[in-house]
Formats: sequence, structure tokens, C-alpha cells
Amino acid sequence: MAWNVVIAGGGFGGFAAARTLERVLPKHSARITVVTDQNFMLYTPLLPGAAAGTLEPRHVVVPLREELREGTDLRLGRVTSADPAEKTITVQSVHGRSEVLPYDQLIVALGAVNRTLPVPGLEEHAMGFKDLPEAIRLRNHVIRTLEAAESTEDPSERAAWLTYVFVGAGYAGLEGLAELQDFAADVLELYPRCRTHGIRWILVEAREQVMPEIQRDLASFAETELRSRGIEIRTSTTLEEVTADTARLSDGEVVRTRTVVWTAGVKPAPVVAELGLPLGKGGRIEVDATMKVAGVDGVWAIGDAAGVPDPARKGEACPPTAQHAIRQGRRVAKNVAAALGTGRVRPFTFKTKGVFVDMGRYQAVASTMGIKWRGLPAWWLARTYHLMAMPGTKRRLRLLLDWNVGLLFGRDTSELGRLGHPARLEPPTATSAPAPDTASATEEPSGPGV
Ligand SMILES: Cc1cc2nc3c(=O)[nH]c(=O)nc-3n(C[C@H](O)[C@H](O)[C@H](O)COP(=O)(O)OP(=O)(O)OC[C@H]3O[C@@H](n4cnc5c(N)ncnc54)[C@H](O)[C@@H]3O)c2cc1C
Repeated sequence: MAWNVVIAGGGFGGFAAARTLERVLPKHSARITVVTDQNFMLYTPLLPGAAAGTLEPRHVVVPLREELREGTDLRLGRVTSADPAEKTITVQSVHGRSEVLPYDQLIVALGAVNRTLPVPGLEEHAMGFKDLPEAIRLRNHVIRTLEAAESTEDPSERAAWLTYVFVGAGYAGLEGLAELQDFAADVLELYPRCRTHGIRWILVEAREQVMPEIQRDLASFAETELRSRGIEIRTSTTLEEVTADTARLSDGEVVRTRTVVWTAGVKPAPVVAELGLPLGKGGRIEVDATMKVAGVDGVWAIGDAAGVPDPARKGEACPPTAQHAIRQGRRVAKNVAAALGTGRVRPFTFKTKGVFVDMGRYQAVASTMGIKWRGLPAWWLARTYHLMAMPGTKRRLRLLLDWNVGLLFGRDTSELGRLGHPARLEPPTATSAPAPDTASATEEPSGPGV
């Protein structure tokens, strides 16, 4: 009899777990099913590049069907609940039906969503930056703000259009802001009034330092780099209120702005609370060092959704990074195989060896094996690392092409906000209704299209 191994979530952790299971489990010993609500893995470290127009959005995702082998079944659907006593999960399938999937071993890798706080006006006026739709919306929004600033006669109104506030200085906030600043600098020559006026970028962080996910010295290194580019960094500062054209900060300043981007942390995907599993700090699933959910038979959890003990910091959970999710995925797969009779269960022991913070063209900071890099060498290292880490030769070549075309020809300023959201077909009017005897002639469209 083949075992049922179900992986909930097809992001960094779930994808790495599936690939490793395909390799380590004896052939035909198990059926591996990945249940996920999108048929691709989003390679988030390249999301700022997609937002800044350096990369084609389709090139920063990994189509799961292409990369998973025949042994793995991909189920597109949304996990809605689980019953650990019955060993089942419930999935809202792509057909709209609710289906119950049994498992012998379950790996929960459902990731995280934006964590919001009760800041007045936040939901109405701020934007997130966590997935592809948000990244593309942000890019379109920045282009629109440049257009609006260029066409207004009022300098104070122009200042508001040209001020961008990012709240939260983790990977998403810092890299997102840096890439968009680079993008704006690149296209500014097309907007003469904006160029004369100048653009203001503000990064707000509640903690004392930026980038809590990485070592302190490297974070200060990144901060110095951003300050030298004219970005205002407000640490130990919080966002107090947002309106359509202002952001009030805890240091008392009311910034006139039309853009507030909220990247202040993440919390586990909401469905995690519906799985009947024990939750720890921050709502992450409680697991031991082997990533097994304590007291629940056959359930493991990894990535941003789980509080995996961090081997590098006693008493703390691993930071929510792709580096950790990938390594946890690989290790948990081996532990699941061990639970099914192949190999040994071992704890998660990974400690970060290198960090890359990409900050736009020729700008990055990096630390690899104790050596710190900045500027062009760091930028080259970061790109090389992502090129190697991106699954699939075809996709690597596409990235390489996008980057090189961008370097040679600059970036595009078309605002394609309506892409995929066309206007509805116009309802028929009295004049467009066909006369009874011409009805058959109008069934096919005629004449040249546009
Ligand atoms: C802009 C940005 C830049 C980043 N840059 C870096 C970086 O440079 N380096 C780094 O190490 N980390 C980076 N991170 C963090 C990194 O993306 C996360 O830590 C990583 O994605 C976590 O992996 P995961 O497998 O836990 O979750 P994810 O990769 O988010 O995967 C979770 C999957 O589960 C799916 N899912 C969610 N809910 C359901 C449901 N109910 N049913 C079915 N499927 C569901 C999701 O669609 C997703 O496919 C960045 C994050 C962002 C937002």
C-alpha cells in the first residue's frame, strides 16, 4: 500500500519538501500531493525587481507543474480546515467543491500574509507589498503619481505626489523602496517638472534598526548605503495615521504623501488557525526541533507559518525568510521519509551563512562566509546567487535576458494597470440591435479589428 503524503502550500518550503521527497522516498512507496491555491511558486526576493520593471512578472514565478516530477500530484485549491484526529484536510477545489483529502503524513507550509495593526486609515489608504498583484499595482501607482505630479500646477500638491513612505524595514520594505527609487531615478528624465522638484523617499521602522532578519552589522551597512542615496530612514518611529494625502508619524511629522506602503511584518496565513494545531508566539504552529507538531500524529510544519526553533538563537523561532523555509522543507522531507521507514529523523540545524540585500542597479550589500561586500561586487554576487537558486534553466536564461536588456535600454514607463481587467462588453443599445433580416449577418464580427 502506498502512503499518502500531503503538502499544504506550494511556496518555498512546500516546493523544497516535494522535490526532496521525490528524491528520497523509494519509488511507488508514497503518493505525494501538493495542495496550493496558485499553480506557481513566487520567488519573492525578485518581487522588487518585478515592481521596478527590471523583470517581467512572469519570470519571477516558478510554474509548479513544470518543476515537480511525475511522482507528485498538484492539486489547485484552498485549504480551509483540517481534522488531525481523522487525519484529513479539507480543500475548496478549483471547481468550487469542498473535498476531503486523507493523509498519513501532512506537511503544513502555508506561509504568511501581511500583518496589519489598528492604525487609522491604514486599510483604506495604504498598499501591501507581499505578492505579485500588489507589486504590479505598486509599480502602476508610482507611474501614475509621476504623471499626476507632472501635470499639476500646484507645487505643494506635486510634493505630495512625489513623496513615498514605506513602513517596515524588512526585506520587502527595504528592497522594495530601494528598487522603486532606482526605477524612479531611471525614468525621471521623462518627467521634467518632477526632475526639477525632486522625489522624497522615507523608510519608517518601529525598531532601532532596519532588517531585523539579518546580522546587525550588515543591517547597519545597508542603512548607511540607503542614507547615502538620500533616503530618509526613521528608526524607532511608527505610523500613527494615514489619510488620502497624509501620513502622521510618531515623531510628530505629518508627511504630505499619496503613497504609503505597508510592509511592517507578516503573520501566518489565516487558515493556520483552522487546522486544529497548537499555536505559539505570533500565531505560528508550535513544532519541535525536528519540525514535528508535538502531540499530533503525522503532522509537521515549516516556513513562515511555523515557529521552528532557531539553531542560531536559543529560545527564538527562525526568522521568516526563504533561506530558512527552503532548508526546513528539505529537512522535513527527510524526516517524513524517516517516519515512513527510510532514513533517520534529525533536527533542523541550519544557520545563515550568507545574506544578500539587493538595492537596485549596481547597489547591494552582502555577507558570504564572513566577508562583507558592497556596491557592484555585492550586486553581482546577489544576482549570481538568485540565478543559481532559481529552479529551471529556462527561467534562469529569462532572468539573465531581462536584466541585461534593462541595463542596456532602461525601463519602460507604460502603466498597464488594466491588464487582465478589461472593461465589460457594452450592453446592446437600440441603434446597435440588428434588424430581424440582418441577424445572421451580424453573428460573426466583421471588418478590421483594432
Ligand atoms: C517582497 C519580499 C521580498 C523577500 N525577500 C527575501 C529575500 O531576499 N531572502 C529571503 O530569505 N526571504 C525573503 N522574503 C521572505 C520569504 O518570501 C518568505 O520567508 C518565504 O516565502 C516563506 O516560505 P513559505 O514556504 O513559508 O511560504 P510561501 O513561500 O509564502 O508559500 C506559501 C504558499 O502557500 C499558499 N497558500 C496560502 N494559503 C493557502 C491556502 N489556504 N490553501 C492553499 N495554499 C495556500 C500560498 O499561495 C503560497 O504559495 C521576502 C518576502 C517578500 C514579501
